[in-house]
Amino acid sequence: VIVTHYRDTYARIQLDYLKDNVNTLYQKVKKPMMAIIKANAYGHGYKEVANSLKENPHISMFGVATLKEAIDLRKLGIQQDILVLGAIPLENLDKVVKYDISLSLFSLDYMKEIQSLFHHQKPIKVHIAIDTGMNRIGLKSKEEFEKVLKLCSTDIFQIDGVFTHFATADDDLQKAAYENQLSMFYEILGDHQFKYIHCQNSASMMYHHETRSNIARIGIAMYGVDPAGDECLQLKQVMSLYSKVVMVKKVHKGEHIGYGFTYQADEDEYIATLPIGYADGFVRANQGRKVYINGHYYPIVGRVCMDQVMVKVDESVALHDLVEIFGEHIPLSQMAKELDTIPYEIVCLISERVERIYE
Ligand code: PLP
Repeated sequence: VIVTHYRDTYARIQLDYLKDNVNTLYQKVKKPMMAIIKANAYGHGYKEVANSLKENPHISMFGVATLKEAIDLRKLGIQQDILVLGAIPLENLDKVVKYDISLSLFSLDYMKEIQSLFHHQKPIKVHIAIDTGMNRIGLKSKEEFEKVLKLCSTDIFQIDGVFTHFATADDDLQKAAYENQLSMFYEILGDHQFKYIHCQNSASMMYHHETRSNIARIGIAMYGVDPAGDECLQLKQVMSLYSKVVMVKKVHKGEHIGYGFTYQADEDEYIATLPIGYADGFVRANQGRKVYINGHYYPIVGRVCMDQVMVKVDESVALHDLVEIFGEHIPLSQMAKELDTIPYEIVCLISERVERIYE
């Protein structure tokens, strides 16, 4: 029995599944991995995830999105290299040096700005980002890459790595686009050697063969979700989300439920209230979807409120019954399809006030 402290809505995080997924992926890629734990480890809790991975022999680096995330990891005692995968505000270069954080170097302008602001003893570790088609960040040509290598002052930059990111690795129908990105990456790299060369995300690892990189960036698959939703590896979903019935009542035929009276009972019905709403990341688009209670699926009726939601149940459902929002009976991939989104978004949106319970 799981005991919650403040509210009967919680995310259950199975850290042993995380380790199993890392092993499964290692068997597939056979190279060290950079654990992507940005956005609070995709909502799973960066502290607990980092702690459970910090001595994992297959994880040799951590990847985050912001400088704050990187510094928090250092403060936790993470010894491995930590790479920020996006831009940081350059007023904070002193913190980058102080906490030994690696930066992504993604444009000539950014490089020049850093050079003009830099006044430290030790160079900053950087990984050069190459844009091979995604058009997000990165150098767009071999000429630009060579120029950066030439102009990069070694007093200021220690080039530890080079990387690119795929836009279509999860889409079988866009294999050619993936192949184009990969060959462009190889071409721009040429004969250069670096400590770290990386390009594979989860989908690339799972669905494609790749030979030049020496470390893979593992995100969603580590959390047990197949990026293409077709379960080619036996991954175990690390997070499940639960709530509990806090009230059950009978409403009469013709009564309405929730804001805007968008639902009207066709007959006398049992309605359960759950303490979860859009402020928990349980978005309003969940109206009409189903939750799982005691072996049955029941629809959400009426609008999702900020903190609560109503479900049409039957007389078998009782006060305090456990409700699965997603988990064993409702996989994230299915929920994402129903919400016309991706599992990444669902887990990242689960807000801070949802207690995370670790096993
Ligand atoms: N690498 C970069 C640069 C990313 O932005 C991300 C995630 O957005 C990842 C790797 C991890 O991707 P995935 O979670 O699909 O494995």
